[in-house]
Amino acid sequence: MHVHDILKRDKTIFSFEFFPPKSEAGWNALSNRLHEFETLEPSFVSVTYGAGGSTRTRTHELVCHLATNTSLDPIPHLTCVGHTHQEIESLLQAYSDAKIDNILALRGDEPMSGPTEGDFRYAADLVDAIRQFPDSSFGIGVAGFPEGHPETPNRLVQMDHLKAKVDRGVDWICTQLFFDNRAYFDWLERCDLAGIQTPTIAGIMPITSLASMKKMAELAGGANFPAPLLRRLHRFQDDPNAVRQAGVSWAAEQCADLLDHGVRGIHFYTMNQSFATEEIYRTLGAPKGSMLRGSH
Ligand code: FAD
Repeated sequence: MHVHDILKRDKTIFSFEFFPPKSEAGWNALSNRLHEFETLEPSFVSVTYGAGGSTRTRTHELVCHLATNTSLDPIPHLTCVGHTHQEIESLLQAYSDAKIDNILALRGDEPMSGPTEGDFRYAADLVDAIRQFPDSSFGIGVAGFPEGHPETPNRLVQMDHLKAKVDRGVDWICTQLFFDNRAYFDWLERCDLAGIQTPTIAGIMPITSLASMKKMAELAGGANFPAPLLRRLHRFQDDPNAVRQAGVSWAAEQCADLLDHGVRGIHFYTMNQSFATEEIYRTLGAPKGSMLRGSH
């Protein structure tokens, strides 16, 4: 479904992010869990794309599997760094052929192995390429960074870059994960002052272990880990179940507060695990995902 229609249908968007597993065991584990995700009735799910096209085939396969074999509505992430125009066009063609309606357009980061040649510099260039794709009617999402993107320390300039990106014709913004809602609300106000009216979905990641938190800190550039959260987690550091409970309950409190403030949507970084999202839904008291989403 085109994101315009999703936004019309759902008062609050709930979306889940998956990554395409590397191993057969990972695929099997995710496949076995898909039914659990389906019962949560998200507005859509998104599938990440590895830096420089490293998961090109696997992302496409997972997106097509979800579209064909489940009730989930998949949106592929697409990063442009290291790609040529021709490569991007052939990926867009494949998604158009598979009747995929929306794309999350990202720049991506240079792979660990070093900088790569390519035709694209910023995500805004990819937004242009998607808009110019023949007969394109893709809904386009982009990334936003409530706590700042590390490459642009000047936050005023960074907001100018975001405004320039959305002005290319963007339908929604999905944010980097954050653990302090005040940072998100403040960023929303700054977007408003900058004249950005694009619907925005708040990125939430339930911490399920100290190891995953450390990994996340590496991947999620700009994200701040507030002291009260760290205190709660460290209190239980010798008990993995208690750490998990503390991390999930922090995310649930964030979600309840976001909903109380009438946010347009919440995007869960699931790491392909359903238990944390299920637990948060339970805490929010929603017997069905569709009730949580509400309707206009
Ligand atoms: P851009 O919008 O291009 O911004 C990147 C940096 O360039 C920013 O600092 C910006 O201020 C600056 N900039 C922008 N325009 C200009 C300009 N004209 N002049 C100077 N500077 C400029 N990565 C993956 O590899 N795969 C994924 O699937 C993936 N999914 C993501 C999903 C979400 C929701 C988010 C928040 C991030 C995701 N990322 C993913 C990570 C993302 O690709 C990186 O954080 C990347 O560094 C920034 O991407 P962007 O699309 O925001 O880039």
